[in-house]
Amino acid sequence: VHLDRIAAVDGDVHAFLHIDAEGALSQAAASDARRANGDALHALDGVPIAVKDVLTTIGLPTTCGSKMLEGWVPPYDATVVKKIKDAGLPILGKTNMDEFAMGSSTEHSAYGPTRNPWKLDRIPGGSGGGSAAAVAAYEAPLALGTDTGGSIRQPGAVTGTVGVKPTYGSVSRYGLVALANSLDQVGPVTRTVLDSALLHELIGGHDPLDSTSTTTPVTGLVDAARAGATGDLKGVKVGVIKELGGQENGQSGWAPDVMRKFAESVDLLTKLGADVVEVSTPSFEHAMAAYYLILPAECSSNLAKFDAMRYGLRVTPDGSPSAEDVMKASRDAGFGDEVKRRIILGTYALSSGYYDAYYGQAQKIRTLIIEDFKKAFEQVDVLVSPTSPSTAFPLGAKLDDPLAMYMQDLATIPANLAGTPGISIPAGVSDVDGLPVGVQLLAPVLEDARLYRVGAALE
Ligand code: GLN
Repeated sequence: VHLDRIAAVDGDVHAFLHIDAEGALSQAAASDARRANGDALHALDGVPIAVKDVLTTIGLPTTCGSKMLEGWVPPYDATVVKKIKDAGLPILGKTNMDEFAMGSSTEHSAYGPTRNPWKLDRIPGGSGGGSAAAVAAYEAPLALGTDTGGSIRQPGAVTGTVGVKPTYGSVSRYGLVALANSLDQVGPVTRTVLDSALLHELIGGHDPLDSTSTTTPVTGLVDAARAGATGDLKGVKVGVIKELGGQENGQSGWAPDVMRKFAESVDLLTKLGADVVEVSTPSFEHAMAAYYLILPAECSSNLAKFDAMRYGLRVTPDGSPSAEDVMKASRDAGFGDEVKRRIILGTYALSSGYYDAYYGQAQKIRTLIIEDFKKAFEQVDVLVSPTSPSTAFPLGAKLDDPLAMYMQDLATIPANLAGTPGISIPAGVSDVDGLPVGVQLLAPVLEDARLYRVGAALE
């Protein structure tokens, strides 16, 4: 059914970079056989899934949306991919993304943009626009995404899907081609909060292959989602973030239609019995600046491995080129403009003499943000904000304005800097353009279950 749907709509949506019909069908047949045999099955056994093309898959191309890795077929599975295979989820294919996960619209993919299924002239968010669009277009019931600054939650918001960034370290990053190691997290993209809980529990847990993997078991999420679905939030304290769509909105680029929907979500929380208060997190306004130093610093170093020698694209200039000439020509041809921009920024920020002024300062802001979260969570159980400042914008609208593109992640970046978990839940559609709006919940580190309890009630 999903393969038929992909065949029918993916020519327009372009959520997939690679479709593995044969593999998915044989995995589905194996699942049917297990069922017929009366085997003990995982709850998601046989439920198809789409995988963002930044996660390695044995035998399936993994391009990260870049020409640099065109044609690369990894010899190993990411831990999360292994887990979904072991649980019997057929993999439909690999989804489109901004090159190396840099972007908020999937327009930076070297293979052409993905379109928002709600309106094909709109962006599906990014960098995981492919995963979100696949789920929103009913091409896949589940998908995996990655969130370094918002790439699961912001696409979720603008496509009307549920997207979760788990606590840093609670889902393995092994086999995730790193954008920024200290910020990256793999997480679920689904249509319901309960589906995300099921997928999150499946992919979570300790992995000895990831040095930053936490040892705390990832459990209780499905139970929390079921408890939340009763719609009773009595005793839950929710903080509306003053600086993110709270009192100070209107000054900071929040679209009025998004704010109206957000106000409805806050009202609903109160109606469901939650105790809603306003909370201030003054350092959040510096999160964007800190992120765009830390992320380029980490990614410029990560992308140094694409040297045209070991794997990836190799361009050999005429004449008798040196190794350096080959490297230069290959990196010039293989990387897109946004990737080059960040490599230059990161290399500059880390260069001697500037290190303390830029990277050092950014790390201090990161600590202040962690402190802000700590103080906030002394007062409330979860924080709430709109997920992204506007609904899906037209393709091309922000392509020439990197800063405008970066602003999409205003509300999502603090969680990445602090390692805290976050979820984006559909909050209905805008009264201006009829496009989806998302509401974001944030919880303390390792308290992901709270997102599911409150999220399922709000849904
Ligand atoms: N839009 C953000 C960026 O471009 C987020 C990326 C991400 O989460 N992978 O960096």
